[in-house]
Amino acid sequence: MKVYISGLYSGTSPQPGIGLSRSLRIAYPDATLVGVEYSNRSSGIHWQGFDDLWLQRPWEELDLAAYGELITELLDGGALWISGTDLEALWLASVFPDGHANLLSPPAVGLSRITKPGVEAHKGLPLQIPPFVSTDESDWDLHAFCRKHDWRVWLKGPYYEAVRTKSWEQFEAVRTALSKVWSTQRLFLQAHVSGYEESVMLAAYKGELLGCVSMRKRDLTEEGKTWAGDVQEVPEEFATKLREIIRDVNWTGGAELEMVRAPDGQRWLLEWNPRFPAWVHGATITGCNLPAMLVEAATGIPAEKTTGSGEEFTRVVLEVPVRSRYPLAPLPEPYGGGIGHSMKHPSGMPALAERLHKLHPHLMTANAGAENGTNGNGSHANGYAKVPDSFVHDLKQQDYAKMETPSFLFLDTTAADLFERASTLARNLSTPETQIVNGYSIKTNPDERLIKLALDSGFYAEAISLLEVQKALQIGFKPEQVILNGPGKWWPEGLMPKERMHAVFCDSIADLKRVIAAADRGELKSKVFGVRLRTPSIKSRFGIPVETPDDFAALIDAIALLPRDSSFGVHFHMASSHIGVGQWWHLYGAMLRWCRSLEKLAGRQIEVLDIGGGWFPDDWHEGREDDFTKAVQQARATLPNVRQIISEPGKAMAQPSMALAMRVLEIQDISDDTTEAVVDGSIAELPQYFFYPHRILRRNGETGELEPLRRGKTRLMGRLCMEHDEVAANVELPEGTQPGDVLIFCDAGGYDRSMSYVFGRG
Ligand SMILES: *Cc1c(COP(=O)(O)O)cnc(C)c1O
Repeated sequence: MKVYISGLYSGTSPQPGIGLSRSLRIAYPDATLVGVEYSNRSSGIHWQGFDDLWLQRPWEELDLAAYGELITELLDGGALWISGTDLEALWLASVFPDGHANLLSPPAVGLSRITKPGVEAHKGLPLQIPPFVSTDESDWDLHAFCRKHDWRVWLKGPYYEAVRTKSWEQFEAVRTALSKVWSTQRLFLQAHVSGYEESVMLAAYKGELLGCVSMRKRDLTEEGKTWAGDVQEVPEEFATKLREIIRDVNWTGGAELEMVRAPDGQRWLLEWNPRFPAWVHGATITGCNLPAMLVEAATGIPAEKTTGSGEEFTRVVLEVPVRSRYPLAPLPEPYGGGIGHSMKHPSGMPALAERLHKLHPHLMTANAGAENGTNGNGSHANGYAKVPDSFVHDLKQQDYAKMETPSFLFLDTTAADLFERASTLARNLSTPETQIVNGYSIKTNPDERLIKLALDSGFYAEAISLLEVQKALQIGFKPEQVILNGPGKWWPEGLMPKERMHAVFCDSIADLKRVIAAADRGELKSKVFGVRLRTPSIKSRFGIPVETPDDFAALIDAIALLPRDSSFGVHFHMASSHIGVGQWWHLYGAMLRWCRSLEKLAGRQIEVLDIGGGWFPDDWHEGREDDFTKAVQQARATLPNVRQIISEPGKAMAQPSMALAMRVLEIQDISDDTTEAVVDGSIAELPQYFFYPHRILRRNGETGELEPLRRGKTRLMGRLCMEHDEVAANVELPEGTQPGDVLIFCDAGGYDRSMSYVFGRG
């Protein structure tokens, strides 16, 4: 008996080859086991358990046709082949579309049914697939997916690698890196599921399930790979279903279903790998030798009995002598910043991926499944986001001929509409007992037109400095329509209004004492005095902490000093755009419970609840009315004395209200499909570039039409002589775009506008 085994890498992210050889050696002591590798950097080539080694040229050089013929000869001659890598299994399936009696890896049909992330074959098993979205979607929609899932998301390649991306900037960087390594733009984002990791490993031959076993990870490496585990039987009902599926997909070879068990017991399927896992021998030593069963089924030669001990296994690190025929290769030359990266894929999988993409593109497409996680924003799968009609309407009114660029454009009907909608919603939710009202956060964009719209729409003016208060008053707000907030509310000195304001929220105990002293002296008047609470469990520099008993006691004592003839209020603010929509709701529930304790212990009724701002426009406007309604209902239910609920949208109002127009200065083709263009805008006008994507339009100089930019391989580089001044990294300029054409970056009316700076203008 001769068995070829590939996938010998035995580092911190190991392949199963070594484990396979150990398991088969127990079952077939006299078999000839041949290790197959494509790199002399794979440490497993030195494993003495192999009788022979078949070291191939690296994948990028290998003559695949000739290699396929060689393997055919081996198999025809009676040798067996167990593939230890996903991509090699995929390639072999293309060489043997209907399988081969001696090829112990799955045929093409089977593989097509396990393609990530949709993993069609799981149907019928008590498993769910975590929500995911293809990166074919527009950046706008990908950002929405990340917010929805609290930035607990993984960016994954269709075959290997998964990287947690915790911010937009990181997402963009990882997307670029993974696309390059795996030669594909077709990645996907998947929501993280918290829980314990477990797997089911199986072996099957020609559609017959030979055995399966379940393993829970009990210790992990830093990369999350198994270091120790316990092995158990697969529950009968799971195994029964698995048996049907295996028959249905006509599986041959090993497989591993990687899962996470959430605290509620639900199991989530992360991957279905078309090969044995690296921990295969861990199961063997507990008595379940699946590779032996596979070889026995394929050859009919009875395996020696495997005796197990215990139900748990762990790994250790072993030193082995290097085979004299394959002395260690020199270390790759270090290059700047690339610590160890060239060692990351020693088996040459990226090179094989690149070749397979060219040879068999259909094999390499991800399965976006029927139940994919798009957010239904009407986005187009070819990477461009829907731009609201009102944007296009407003942008068409501009006079581009005389426009100096870069220039911010005010979208007046869009802005008016946003304020109108927010005030209507507040009015509709108000009852005789509880008034619902908005406050406009001036700092988000202090443009007079927006402040005026806020005034006309019945908003309060929410200010964080006395300069902002003065500006609101100049535009027509009365002091009783002003909310003063933040840690810098006394700045600049001497500008505090003499008249009564609506509400003042204290950011610290010190601030609160200062407020009380000023109120006692009659220098500060407000209908509502309140406190801003620091969010427990989510780090914040603002507000008064409540987490420890001492903090809470100090807060209670300080509240006792607040003027009795004014109302008491509580404010909290944590941007859902930052922590994610799910986490915001969790926090909101917690804050309401803190408020209730505060009310009881301080002996003061909370009459005003101010729930801050921080909403990404799409999470606040159209289609999200139910969310706000729910928030109001929850507040009423928890705090029965609340008479007014204030929300303080800043960027939800301002961000869509302005766009930035810039002109193309120069376009240069870099290669067949990549282009670089220089524009007269820059990150000085788009400082939010790093935090969220902007929807971009190109104005056709001849027809005046506005066309959305879709995803592509053009980089738009700003005018600044700064390395990081790049305003878009992966767009496609519409056919016919020329220097002088106007590009319009939407969604620039929030902090892009207010935090833009003068730079590089002489
Ligand atoms: C900044 C701020 C807001 C508005 O936040 P956005 O992220 O712009 O929506 C609301 N309330 C307070 C107290 C703020 O400081």
